[in-house]
Amino acid sequence: MSDPILKLSGVTKAYNAGAPNEITVLRGVDLVVQPGEVVALVAPSGAGKSTLLHIAGLLDNADAGTVEIAGTDMTNLGDRKRTAARRDQVGFIYQFHHLLPEFSALENIVLPQLANAVPEAQAKEHARKLLDTVGVAHRAGHRPAELSGGEQQRVAFCRALANTPRLLLADEPTGNLDPDTSDQVFGALMDLVRGTGLSAVIATHNLDLAARMDRAIRLDAGGLSPVDL
Ligand code: ADP
Repeated sequence: MSDPILKLSGVTKAYNAGAPNEITVLRGVDLVVQPGEVVALVAPSGAGKSTLLHIAGLLDNADAGTVEIAGTDMTNLGDRKRTAARRDQVGFIYQFHHLLPEFSALENIVLPQLANAVPEAQAKEHARKLLDTVGVAHRAGHRPAELSGGEQQRVAFCRALANTPRLLLADEPTGNLDPDTSDQVFGALMDLVRGTGLSAVIATHNLDLAARMDRAIRLDAGGLSPVDL
């Protein structure tokens, strides 16, 4: 059997450790995400889902426990290897698109590939294919300010997948959009994820969207439990 794409074991995290305002956010979290699996992460605001996603995506360190990505223990990697692993293996999507305003949609997807030494012609072709999958190829030459909120998020999805990560982590990726747009844009995200076979953990408050994923988990009181949808 192949390794899981993400394996968290006994992950704990507290802020302001030792101070009177110490807050323990994660209390020994275990999570296994298999290749191609898409998991919904449901949590009340403040429960710690951003903390969990940042630790899983190597943007933050746990106080204890281990993080494995594609069979490699990332827990004690030095900064350079950690940065390289994050760049090569993990794609992030946030509620806000964070696209570079002075570049076109296409360029926003080409630039991370050039930073990864992909030849320009190949990077452009890949970017066009991704834009086509999410239905915004006709907007390739436009800057973010000229795009609708839903189009901006579709482009941000393509950018997150530009370097073909193994794991996608998304924090309320359609949380800024009205319900109809959110529904369609989420469909575009699922097309991208299923088309590439990548694994994903997608945080959402929307239980209808959670039901479109393979399974759902709830983060509450520092621990994960399955959600029946
Ligand atoms: P969520 O994404 O579920 O809303 P977060 O992971 O952002 O939750 O935060 C979980 C809890 O930890 C919240 O109570 C928040 O105020 C606290 N917290 C988050 N980051 C920090 C930090 N850098 N320092 C202190 N407390 C923090």
